[in-house]
Amino acid sequence: MASPGSRRILRVRGTVQGVGFRPFVYRAAVDLGLRGSVWNDADGVVIDAEGSVEALDELARRIAAEPPPRAIVEALDVENARARGLGTFAIAESEAQPPVSARVSPDLAACPACREEMANPADRRFGYPFINCTDCGPRYSIARDVPYDRARTTMSAFSMCAPCEREYADPASRRFHAEPNACPSCGPRLFVAGSPAGSPLQEAVAALHRGAIVAVKGLGGFHLACDARDPAAVRRLRERKRRSDKPFAVMFPDRPGVERETHLDTGSRAALEGSRRPIVLLPRRRDSALAEDVAPRLRELGAFLPYTPLHHLLVGSFGGPLVMTSGNLSEEPIAAENREAQERLAGIADVFLLHDRDIHMRADDSVVRVLLGRERVLRRARGHVPEAIDLGFDGPDVLAVGADLKNVLCVTAGGAAILSQHIGDLESYEAVRFAGEVRENLERLFRVRPSLVAHDLHPGYHSTSIARRAGLPTLGVQHHHAHVASCLADNGRRGPVIGVAWDGTGYGTDGTVWGGEILVADLAGFERVGRIRPVPLPGGDAAVREPWRMALSHLMAAGLPAARVQNPSRATVEAMIRDSVNAVATSSAGRLFDAVASLAGLCHVTSYEGQAAMELEAVSEVEAEAYPLPVGGDGILEIDPRPLIAAVVEDLERGASAARIGGRFHASLAEALAEACARVRSRTGLGTVALSGGCFQSRRLTELTVERLGRAGFEVLLHARVPPSDAGIALGQAAVAAWKNRE
Ligand code: ZN
Ligand code: ZN
Ligand code: FE
Repeated sequence: MASPGSRRILRVRGTVQGVGFRPFVYRAAVDLGLRGSVWNDADGVVIDAEGSVEALDELARRIAAEPPPRAIVEALDVENARARGLGTFAIAESEAQPPVSARVSPDLAACPACREEMANPADRRFGYPFINCTDCGPRYSIARDVPYDRARTTMSAFSMCAPCEREYADPASRRFHAEPNACPSCGPRLFVAGSPAGSPLQEAVAALHRGAIVAVKGLGGFHLACDARDPAAVRRLRERKRRSDKPFAVMFPDRPGVERETHLDTGSRAALEGSRRPIVLLPRRRDSALAEDVAPRLRELGAFLPYTPLHHLLVGSFGGPLVMTSGNLSEEPIAAENREAQERLAGIADVFLLHDRDIHMRADDSVVRVLLGRERVLRRARGHVPEAIDLGFDGPDVLAVGADLKNVLCVTAGGAAILSQHIGDLESYEAVRFAGEVRENLERLFRVRPSLVAHDLHPGYHSTSIARRAGLPTLGVQHHHAHVASCLADNGRRGPVIGVAWDGTGYGTDGTVWGGEILVADLAGFERVGRIRPVPLPGGDAAVREPWRMALSHLMAAGLPAARVQNPSRATVEAMIRDSVNAVATSSAGRLFDAVASLAGLCHVTSYEGQAAMELEAVSEVEAEAYPLPVGGDGILEIDPRPLIAAVVEDLERGASAARIGGRFHASLAEALAEACARVRSRTGLGTVALSGGCFQSRRLTELTVERLGRAGFEVLLHARVPPSDAGIALGQAAVAAWKNRE
């Protein structure tokens, strides 16, 4: 290497901490004969390097083109500096002073190299449930602060032994600066509560074989596990967890296990085996060997593969699929501390498989589905959080508090939006407290100081009062505007677009309950240009839980006999609707799903959100002719469900099956949407449609609508990184607030 005189400072931003970035730079620099150093600062990674111009160019090229597998390089700034004879290349200590937006990587699934070592009897980490390296292991869940290094993680409680220390310091090792590096003699340890001797793993496995429910402390919190093929065990878990119908996820030892139970296409396989290791929704096989109660009356199964070494050992030695559901009671947040879990889960679990590495930040499993060629996140948590979403413009630091169901927070730092993990329903005190913890943590990790809090317009939401109590200026963002804005931000757009926001419930600007909205919207604002013709919502929340009430409401709106609905409270609810008592008007699409699911005889009372629509979709046949669902109105467009309800009733009288009715219903919605959008296009000239809201968690509705809109020549924006449900609302709120207040 000639011409020693050049020196450059390279600043790398993105997901570059906790992903083996400094060792990667070190190896490249040594390979290229450069001198200098690399370190983390709170913005990312900084490299100060001296050497030939060619070598410096090549270093920049490798950083941009060949970064380590988990790194995401968002920006690389290169600056020339005066050469000063730097010494041998080294990894320097991280700078402790905290400027703006640092990045912590999401937690990573155990890598193949670590799994191989764990399975090798000659390796010193044979069977060690906490093995990790720079390519894998805990990150977000253990990081207390930035810069990300061991002293600022929950691993600071363990001091490395000499062999671990040597790996950590050896640039040639896969564990060079692997912050959670550990081994059986110096690292965390596994145990069964109240059982000091013996093999904790074997004890847990034996209990599972006996049909017991085992609480397992994992990466982001506790799971409740039981044998997925044992109907009695699954039923017991449902009873104790007070969760009557909501589907359970199942962890399989390996991919062939998943393939025995589901139809696994190429895209879903990539999602299943990727380093984020989410729960993937897959179509079930008819000859399933799983207990029926795992996912009652649904066509899809949430399947995932082990992601921590502990899960590999546990599910591997059990030798079959395990129900692995969040360790909580109904919709409360997941439990994470040993003592807390033993108290909260005392009535549920028979055995507690614990370890002594603290979980700083709880995070549930993420849930995805591959739809129309792309992985789409339905619950954003472990493996995704705290990855930033680039807003594409610079705005003030904002906190967005989301909605009350499936609550998720979002903070922005400069142009980056960081969504929190799934928090839960803010009905519970536990969830409100958890939301506070998550907010503090994100603000600390990303050095965010919000100057504005964005919230839903609903005056009764807990999230709204959280926003008001923050002592900062607030901005209310209408629920369905936030849905559409979230879809825009998810796609890196600003609008204007035709926004279809279809969900169960959202507070409208006129005080009624919206949910079947067509908006013309951009990040700055919206106009409501269309809706489903409103009907009464008899009993408010009761109508959300009891689809038969919506069947009654839609029957009466269509002028059809109420007698079709059989329920002891029918007369009372009929009077509520007739006299408009406790029956606010709603344009909700979700409630129309409920009405049809109930009319079809499938589901009259629900035990979890979206149940009626999911059960209807599960039975619906694919090819079906649409019902009449006219789009009328001169000012605001109105999709009129009355002819559809009348046709459903006719079908029922003719003895049509729920499969037939469901199939026709889905087709009708897609066609009505395409027609409504075409009418909006002819008024506005807009040719792009954004689909958002909980209804677009439905595979069938989404596929059909995209197909119809595509045929009509529309460009269609769907969610991918952020859920279409209320779990994505916070991103929309944040994008609107940041955009309106940008510099
Ligand atoms: Zn590894
Ligand atoms: Zn060690
Ligand atoms: Fe919503």
